[in-house]
Amino acid sequence: MFIGIDLGGTNIKVGLFDDQLQPVDEIWRATQSETNSKIVIDNMIVAVQALLTQNQLQATALKAIGIGVPGLLDIDTGISKFSPNFMNWQDVPIKQIFEDQFHVPVFIDNDVRVNLYGEWQFGAGIGQQNLLMVTLGTGLGSGVVLDGRVLYGTTASAGELGHMNMYRHGRPCACGSTGCLGRYVSARGIVKTAQEKLKDGETSILTDWTQNDPSKITAKMISEADEQHDQLAHTVWQETGELLGYGLANAINLFNPAMVIIGGGMANAGKRLLTPTKNAIKAHGLKIAVVACQVVTAKLGDRAGMMGATIVAKRRLK
Ligand SMILES: [Zn+2]
Repeated sequence: MFIGIDLGGTNIKVGLFDDQLQPVDEIWRATQSETNSKIVIDNMIVAVQALLTQNQLQATALKAIGIGVPGLLDIDTGISKFSPNFMNWQDVPIKQIFEDQFHVPVFIDNDVRVNLYGEWQFGAGIGQQNLLMVTLGTGLGSGVVLDGRVLYGTTASAGELGHMNMYRHGRPCACGSTGCLGRYVSARGIVKTAQEKLKDGETSILTDWTQNDPSKITAKMISEADEQHDQLAHTVWQETGELLGYGLANAINLFNPAMVIIGGGMANAGKRLLTPTKNAIKAHGLKIAVVACQVVTAKLGDRAGMMGATIVAKRRLK
């Protein structure tokens, strides 16, 4: 048996899998990310124990535990160095804490890469040797499978499309640069684009919906406004999709994947986002590479992380 944990900003998802990595049971708990690392780690441990208990298992029945963690990690030592999603979180020795607690091998990896493993082995990417995954949530995460291997690079940050420079003097990014793709193509980014247009004097139904308070705008609202044929909302989706297409055209030229998987909450926008994305890819990517590459949406939804964390555990155990 294996356990895969997806440590998210809102929920801790813990899945129990058999040796063939088929799902057996799962449990979700609130993360309480606004507290501190001790409480979050305790919540994870309690969730694992509860899952074992309700399946009448001891920890000794486990071969390994895999954990997907957002933010900066040292994968080899299993230390989560920093995570922008959590409060009071620095140099947390996750691997050590879990190994001391459960006495089984524990492996951690980046949350986006864990999602990539899940979609690759059990979701939209089954059987692919070359694929790119982009997760559009609060920010933009991404990972790459090339010639049948997940790319890591020197500091395990290979394939970070979110920080591809799209504008020389664009919006400031937490990475220290400006104009990064993720600052525009993400839930936060699309809201910012709508706010900028309103500030420039454009009109929209969003002004009524938020009682003239642009800080209340959400990505979901911009989708709903587009459904009501709001011109500003339509333009915002169009520009966001197009920018994603330019970014992906660059990535397709670099990596030559057979498939691009778009996941995360914003993928639910569907054609509203993906039509302009696909058009920009077609217009700007290398023709042979673009023809050989299909753009699809993710299949596993919010279960990809648990499954992927388990795959990481099984692979690293070997
Ligand atoms: Zn950046």
